[in-house]
Amino acid sequence: MAAKRKKTDDESIEAIDLITLLTPPSAAGCYEVEIQRPLPGEEFDLLKAAADLPDVPEPAQLRSLPAASTSRKPSATLHQLPASDKPSPQQSEQDIENLLTGMRKPRKPTRLQPLPDIADDSLTRIADEIAQCQKCDLCKTRNKTVPGAGPDSARLVFIGEAPGGDEDATGIPFVGRAGQHLDKILAAAGFKREEVFICNILKCRPPENRDPTLSEMICCTPYLQRQLRLLKPALIACLGNVAVKFVIGPESPGITRIHGQWFNSIFDIPTMAMYHPSFLLRSQGREKGSPNWQMWQDIQALKQRYDSL
Ligand code: SF4
Repeated sequence: MAAKRKKTDDESIEAIDLITLLTPPSAAGCYEVEIQRPLPGEEFDLLKAAADLPDVPEPAQLRSLPAASTSRKPSATLHQLPASDKPSPQQSEQDIENLLTGMRKPRKPTRLQPLPDIADDSLTRIADEIAQCQKCDLCKTRNKTVPGAGPDSARLVFIGEAPGGDEDATGIPFVGRAGQHLDKILAAAGFKREEVFICNILKCRPPENRDPTLSEMICCTPYLQRQLRLLKPALIACLGNVAVKFVIGPESPGITRIHGQWFNSIFDIPTMAMYHPSFLLRSQGREKGSPNWQMWQDIQALKQRYDSL
């Protein structure tokens, strides 16, 4: 197998420019899913990135790009296009535009199936059903169920992965050390805890605070789906890697790469990926670039968007 050749700076720049080419010029603020730019030394799957692009205005904007941009050859770092899609040097600029337009075909993000209507549904009724729930084995080890807390007028919902020991003992979400850390972050950014809804994907604590399993999360999600249907929040903040990968999708990059970015989640609500406060507690540093520093930037960006609602 041929040894990997180190990319030159020019090749790296070319790869990033091509992504920019595939991104509508007015992308900022138009859609939620950001294209993941390759890290230095990382290969980038152009076709996958193109397929992931959401609905965008069609070709007028592409035609307005400078000719020099559309005539670039894909860099050596990009995956090979299928033979039938490869532009030959003889192909006209129009051919290349057609190719890029085809690659930008809208693809609807994954959404949850809508739940059947439930007459007189309410947050209280959902909490009562959760308290009786035996849909997964976590009902055997829980002390209290933790449905979530907050006003039914909340415009912002924070979603973690599962209750911990303190939450299992009290039935209230985010009341342990991690919850107190979240409270401080919220207060520092100008949020009142009473104005937001805070909950988890799972409503029962997994033993030893292990990660939730996929089947547990699938089992429990209809409760969260019903809560969100009633709340109709404008924004979601998704806390931690497990919750982010479930709410945004299993192919989502890790939280350290996508924190602070906005996505359309499976709930079809603009969602910001954020660090989980328990991770921040383990990361003591506050210096620039540290997770706590990054969280501070992210929560301020969240507050800014929240204030603009
Ligand atoms: S975790 Fe969810 S699905 Fe499992 S028992 Fe608790 S409420 Fe029911």
